[in-house]
Amino acid sequence: MVFDVIIIGAGAAGLFAATVAAERGKKVLLLEKNAKIGVKILMSGGTRCNITQNTDSAGIAEGFRSNGKFLRSALARLTPSDVVQWVESEGVDTKIELTGKIFPVSDRAVDVRNAILDRLKRSPDVLIRNKAGVTNVECVEGNFRVSTPEKQWSAKKLILASGGKSYPGCGTTGDGYQWAIDLGHTLVPTAPALTPLVSPEQWVKDLSGLSIDPCLVGVFEKSDLPRISAKNFSKLAITSSRSSLLFTHFGCSGPAAMNVSREFAYRPQGNLTLVVDFLPDENLDSLRNWLLLMENQAKVAQSALAGKVPSRLLHLLVQRAGIAQDQRLAEIKRLSLQKLLGLLKGCPVAIEGVRGYKKAEVTAGGVNLKEVNSQSMESKICSGLYFAGEILDLDGPIGGFNFQSAFSTGYLAGLSI
Ligand SMILES: Cc1cc2nc3c(=O)[nH]c(=O)nc-3n(C[C@H](O)[C@H](O)[C@H](O)COP(=O)(O)OP(=O)(O)OC[C@H]3O[C@@H](n4cnc5c(N)ncnc54)[C@H](O)[C@@H]3O)c2cc1C
Repeated sequence: MVFDVIIIGAGAAGLFAATVAAERGKKVLLLEKNAKIGVKILMSGGTRCNITQNTDSAGIAEGFRSNGKFLRSALARLTPSDVVQWVESEGVDTKIELTGKIFPVSDRAVDVRNAILDRLKRSPDVLIRNKAGVTNVECVEGNFRVSTPEKQWSAKKLILASGGKSYPGCGTTGDGYQWAIDLGHTLVPTAPALTPLVSPEQWVKDLSGLSIDPCLVGVFEKSDLPRISAKNFSKLAITSSRSSLLFTHFGCSGPAAMNVSREFAYRPQGNLTLVVDFLPDENLDSLRNWLLLMENQAKVAQSALAGKVPSRLLHLLVQRAGIAQDQRLAEIKRLSLQKLLGLLKGCPVAIEGVRGYKKAEVTAGGVNLKEVNSQSMESKICSGLYFAGEILDLDGPIGGFNFQSAFSTGYLAGLSI
């Protein structure tokens, strides 16, 4: 039997592509390596599934930097509110958290996965094969031949939705990249993204378990360090993120660190540094004046600043500024006070690498977007071949951006075949 379309990968992108194609009356074969369908949906958002972000299509596209423009057509076809409607129409209510992240009210990712899968299963002409790891893909006389250990399958069209290579334990081992290359495509080099950062600094490890929310973190060229000030922080930063930062026994984690990790992954040679503004809502000059006003009071720096940042962090920064813990503000040298303020508003943190694909929520890089028609997701090189989801050179920040990209590109591919 020749299917209208074979879709490889039953993740966010493949499931949406299969549903749309099947609802349009196409004969669909969905092949998934795992026993479970939608494994990453099930484990996402700490098993709560952050479905999308409370923004419009332009807001999602912006999260993908310059590659966001590739997503415009897909996001116009399936907007963030369409995704919310999709799951809500299957009986899964959603909620918006303060960060703009949208979750199911139940906080159960399995409800989201079931909602998506139930709708797909209602379509008449769809065959879902789990435990069907694809081993080979070829295009023979205009038809696609896809091999699994069980048998060989044929279809007129093929959608590669096999994801990236992060969290390989979930089945995402980058298999699709080689098939894309075999079918004539090139790849933008891949790197782990949304992954924790590894730091050699002992003081960072000493703060393990401490979370600061919010922080502004920036990635800078080391050579720019002497020039960084509160005023030019955003201008000089290669990239920055305002969110929570978590110190760990190996370095830095939490959304702020993970959002900027792709820069360190792409440039592991060590000429980048992380700089943290622990008080992003405080202006440096007003903070300095406020402290100077208190000089007359017999306060020690720690108690003057208590409440602004957690005491464990303050204790450490006071020490690093060369200030004794019991030293009164009036006794502290201007230079030391200046140093303390500098550390609060722009603390350099040496980074020696990232945790890698094993702990990366997404893969940066992938199938070159220049070779894919953004209006249809069809390959510009191999007719009848389509791409959807993370296999493409698309990686966004934490907050539901990556699922939205996968849902929208999957939807558009399913609509276009
Ligand atoms: C721990 C974690 C938490 C995350 N949380 C969130 C979140 O809350 N919100 C968010 O927006 N994003 C989140 N992400 C990112 C998000 O999961 C991915 O961006 C998204 O799943 C990509 O969808 P996809 O369909 O392109 O790929 P995937 O979901 O990775 O699906 C690809 C599928 O293809 C299958 N496959 C691979 N090779 C083969 C083969 N040879 N044969 C057959 N099948 C194959 C894989 O088994 C997999 O099921 C998280 C990621 C991780 C790792």
